[in-house]
Amino acid sequence: MNNESWKKRTMDIKDEIRKSHEELLRLRRDFHAHPELGFREFRTSRIVEEHLGDLGLEVRRCAGTGVVGVLRGSGPGKTILLRCDMDALPIEEATGLPFRSLEPGVMHACGHDGHTAMLMVAARILAGHREEFPGAIVFLFQPNEEEAGAERMIEDGALENPRPDAVCGAHLWSLLPTGVIGVSSGPLMASSYYFKLTICGKGGHGGAPHAAVNPIDAASHVLEAIKTLHTLEFDSLRPTVISVCTLHAGVKAIVVPETLEMEGSIRCLHDGDEEVRRRFSELVEGVCRLYRCTCDVAFRCGNTLLNNNEEMSELAMNVAEKVVGSGNVRTRDLSVMLGDDFAEFSSRIPGVFYFIGTGNESKGTNIAHHHPRFDIDEDSLPLGVEMHVRLALEYLNEAICNS
Ligand SMILES: [Zn+2]
Ligand SMILES: [Zn+2]
Repeated sequence: MNNESWKKRTMDIKDEIRKSHEELLRLRRDFHAHPELGFREFRTSRIVEEHLGDLGLEVRRCAGTGVVGVLRGSGPGKTILLRCDMDALPIEEATGLPFRSLEPGVMHACGHDGHTAMLMVAARILAGHREEFPGAIVFLFQPNEEEAGAERMIEDGALENPRPDAVCGAHLWSLLPTGVIGVSSGPLMASSYYFKLTICGKGGHGGAPHAAVNPIDAASHVLEAIKTLHTLEFDSLRPTVISVCTLHAGVKAIVVPETLEMEGSIRCLHDGDEEVRRRFSELVEGVCRLYRCTCDVAFRCGNTLLNNNEEMSELAMNVAEKVVGSGNVRTRDLSVMLGDDFAEFSSRIPGVFYFIGTGNESKGTNIAHHHPRFDIDEDSLPLGVEMHVRLALEYLNEAICNS
């Protein structure tokens, strides 16, 4: 295929997406009205599974409510994986939208309804072009992103048969304006580890503290020590955030408690998170010992660092320029201390995760993710479809694009 016909074909793709607009809105609004929590996306995954089956893809279930569809091209070649998430959040919706959640206390407050709709439409368009690319495209619909469901999909074989050579994922992003796409190479979203400290002292009478060992005293020094760790020991150019979010001890004003529990998270936008956890443990254990307490430190992994591959980021930047024009591609100041478990895929296979702006003040869609009034600007949905379609075609037809 020469350059001229390639250009014509990509113009046709814009046209095809325009014709899919109604389907895109119908799907998104249907998912929005029927949100489902992580690993309980029964209805959503059934709709996705049927849709992919009707398109003639090889479809299989993965990790219960996860769905994987494989679209084979015209011959041997590389394999690219396009991923979206499907889960909603335990939030009571307050948007007042005509298609608002019908499930009490459950809401699509992160845009995953839009993600699912975009990837379904992209699958339909790409299925219609299967003669025009070599290799294969894997469409991965993931459950429970909010609580790191990716790992269970991987354990259940999501990255096998076929093994992808590249992975791509997108997030509708209310922090960027509609019409802007954000792509950058390197660390994009932080790793997160949740900690639980159990500090043990010795119970006793509040009137005789010298005869007891109060874990609350030790905890107050632990809090100070954590602040010192922040300011004095960590490189400020390598972002690290430690937040203490729960603290429980004691039941009565005259009783020195025996134990105290403290929970929080450590987030790093760099790959030195293991050293941060080691030093954190050493410090809190040491401080507790100084105040005659013992301290048990337990960690649970939330997300690993989402680090975009350089070559894949470059490809996504080039594709984004075609989708929204070079003036609308943001390549800096995108990193956040939030996490996304797309990192589980991209830490194993070269990948890129990018943001599709959906913030529009006049429509009230510039509200923070996970807020009860969170909404997406539906004008951003076709841009997400186009990113999926072009990324797949350009990656698989690399030789043509580079000519
Ligand atoms: Zn979220
Ligand atoms: Zn999300």
